[in-house]
Amino acid sequence: MVEFISFGSGSSGNCYYFRKGDDSFVIDMGIGIRRFKNYCRMYGISLSKIQAVFLTHDHTDHSLAAGAFSQELGVPVYTSDLVHKGIVRNYHVRKKIKPEHTKVLEQGGSIRVGDFTITSFNVPHDSAQNNGYFISTSCGFNFCLCTDVGHVTTEMETFIQRAQYLVIEANYDLAMLLTGSYPGFLKTRIMGPNGHLCNDETAQALLNFASDYCKKVWLCHLSEENNRPQHALDAVLHAFRKAGREDFFQNCTLEALPRTEPTNFFSLAE
Ligand SMILES: [Zn+2]
Ligand SMILES: [Zn+2]
Repeated sequence: MVEFISFGSGSSGNCYYFRKGDDSFVIDMGIGIRRFKNYCRMYGISLSKIQAVFLTHDHTDHSLAAGAFSQELGVPVYTSDLVHKGIVRNYHVRKKIKPEHTKVLEQGGSIRVGDFTITSFNVPHDSAQNNGYFISTSCGFNFCLCTDVGHVTTEMETFIQRAQYLVIEANYDLAMLLTGSYPGFLKTRIMGPNGHLCNDETAQALLNFASDYCKKVWLCHLSEENNRPQHALDAVLHAFRKAGREDFFQNCTLEALPRTEPTNFFSLAE
């Protein structure tokens, strides 16, 4: 059994926790260290058992507290060299990751944490670089996480196809973004090939690539200004209905992750 929690998903801070037995790790540390420690107390999570942090990319909402966290707990922070360099340059990240905690995991590479194998792959986005993660265990558990997705690449498709559990971005509703208050340059950036996925793009990616053995999909990184959870869920359900594939959701549950609230523990069968 693998346990999973989202402690935050979106521009206010991203943080995902994984545990199997005594082994645990975190993907992204974009929420404040104090908030993270409070959540761990609330959920009975032993901080000393967290063995590593993996970062998707250098934007502050994903990397803010990685330096503070790694120093306080003495844990390594894994990400690609370009993302580490991006964090060094990011002046919003005040507490930097010390050299002894700076560990490089390049795209295509894998690291073991207990029974977990974490593999990194490329996700296009306008950061120094952006990593998706594919997490598997010896029992055949497969979990894919891709956030801040400019567009879906053929490499990403292969990881989405293999996922039993999938976290994928559904950032914005196109009509809300176009009619919303964001300045033009920002709208162009978000819609561009290195920006974010809109609900309909996420729906198409799921329709085209999610396999029949996918058990659960969480939509992540929803925009506060340009999206609503119901819009994102409806876009996906509508795409499957239109394609005559509504039976897909008889065996697979679909959920939108809350932006600032933690979820419950999800217990995921291996
Ligand atoms: Zn982000
Ligand atoms: Zn980003």
